[in-house]
Amino acid sequence: MCGIVGYIGYRQAAPVLLDCLKQLEYRGYDSYGVATRSDGISIYKKKGNVSNILPDASALQGICGIGHTRWATHGIPSDINAHPHLDCKGRIVVVHNGIIENYAVLKRDLISRGHTFRSETDTEVIPHLLEDAYEGNLLEAMSRIVEKLEGSYAILAISEDDNCIVAARNQSPLVLGIGDNELFAASDITPLLEYTNRVIYLEDGDIAEIHPDTHMIYQGSIIQDRQVQEIQWTPDTVQKGGFAHFMLKEIYEQPDVINRAIHSLTPQSLPSFFRDTRSITVVACGSSYHAGFIFRYLIESTCGIPVRVELGSEYKYNSIPFGDLIIGISQSGETADTLSAIKKGNCNNVPTIAITNVLNSTITRHADATILMQAGPEISVAATKSFIAQLGILLQVVNLLSGNACDAILSHAGFAIKKVLQLELGEAVHLCSSANHIFFVGRGSFYPVMMEGALKMKEISYIHAEAYAAGEIKHGPFSLLSSETPVVAICMPGPAYAVMLGNLKEMKARGTPIIAIGSKDDTELYELVDVLIPLEVEHLYLQILTSTVILQLLAYHTATNLGREIDKPRNLAKSVTVE
Ligand code: GLU
Repeated sequence: MCGIVGYIGYRQAAPVLLDCLKQLEYRGYDSYGVATRSDGISIYKKKGNVSNILPDASALQGICGIGHTRWATHGIPSDINAHPHLDCKGRIVVVHNGIIENYAVLKRDLISRGHTFRSETDTEVIPHLLEDAYEGNLLEAMSRIVEKLEGSYAILAISEDDNCIVAARNQSPLVLGIGDNELFAASDITPLLEYTNRVIYLEDGDIAEIHPDTHMIYQGSIIQDRQVQEIQWTPDTVQKGGFAHFMLKEIYEQPDVINRAIHSLTPQSLPSFFRDTRSITVVACGSSYHAGFIFRYLIESTCGIPVRVELGSEYKYNSIPFGDLIIGISQSGETADTLSAIKKGNCNNVPTIAITNVLNSTITRHADATILMQAGPEISVAATKSFIAQLGILLQVVNLLSGNACDAILSHAGFAIKKVLQLELGEAVHLCSSANHIFFVGRGSFYPVMMEGALKMKEISYIHAEAYAAGEIKHGPFSLLSSETPVVAICMPGPAYAVMLGNLKEMKARGTPIIAIGSKDDTELYELVDVLIPLEVEHLYLQILTSTVILQLLAYHTATNLGREIDKPRNLAKSVTVE
């Protein structure tokens, strides 16, 4: 949530900062702002989206500056609440990602001592605290004030009198990019790819003083020697590459992504914790939770290992059994709720495995073992290729634990996905586009596939979409069925086929339009439903993967049909770093 960036070097800072903010926008996009330092501090900040930059922003002078693109937590999106925030005298300026939980107490105290606040944000306490603590050195002031801050933060600050940027991190991501005679700081590596591939990941408790040619990182008063890492992602991976939207590009990358994810795990690289586990708890949020849910069905039926799947947000504050092994799934590796579950496991001596897309993300530093998704950067807020990569990894875990029984099947995964990318979905899209409510139903492992399908539909098309285990829909939701409430169903041959077909007949009897994903030869289903989307693959794993892709495309085309903002849906942001 929210992207921050800092630059100090030889170029004009404002255009660099704005360029980086555009790359970080998927982390938040309700307002943006930049501040630079030359003779004094200059600021430009505005409600809205950084793509609509006005010329005044890039005209700010100075070769040192900080920037922010916001996902509001405290105070509405507005020009005033946009970051950066200033102290009373306008000499110190700050951008912040996170939440200062004790801001109300700090703010009351600062006001009683004469400080004037301009915004409603929690962030604004930081420049005022720095103002009080400042005795001629910004780094020292930052060291004094972080002790007073409770909550999560990645902070960048500059001042009129210090020729440097000062950074501080606690539970919000922050990375330094090392260039030639220029240094960057950012929430993640995506905006840096254009400028450098050499980075340092800051850790909780770090405070850094950043100059163009040098940086010092401290924990308290002790200097830290942090390794510079070379990143492999290239700038073209964060471009649209001719596609109308990142989401579509990322959907089309999935044949390669699934193959990479599956091959990334071999019998040798499978974390040993899997081998003798008698129970597993998967903790995740959003799409990752759905991937965990699918895994549960497959590993329980194939290996008989009981699995709990828990929402990250519910895990921390409730007494939920750990099991023998905790798996945290997070695309960004920064999801606050999932991270806290991993930490809870650590405190209780339960082995933990992270499945994430981002090398060196925070979760990888807390988990006992990490499996990388290998999906490459995902820019669209709606997860697609990262979800497929998660499925690839989890299917491969099941495969490896069951003696490689499905090697041959999984080797077809990329090809199977490529084929469904060509499907014609016009009729189904037409039905969905005119609906206000859509039900997504399935049985067994197709139920969580449908949960993911409904999530995709609601997040980008803004149509209310709800997933149900098909057998449950009679227990209440039937009252909502009508000719205006389409149902999307998966009805593949298998043990639950007959009962699923029966469910669809009951729905049809209420006049409900049905879009079914089913076997291409199923004439009975074809005659029953309004639209049959044909699947040619016979193995369950391939059915799960291909129907997931169909549901992504259905959501994408419905949302484009309705003229929605595809890559940056309203109110959302990628990488949910606050609880
Ligand atoms: N809490 C800060 C605000 O509302 C920062 C939000 C964020 O990290 O997204 O302005």
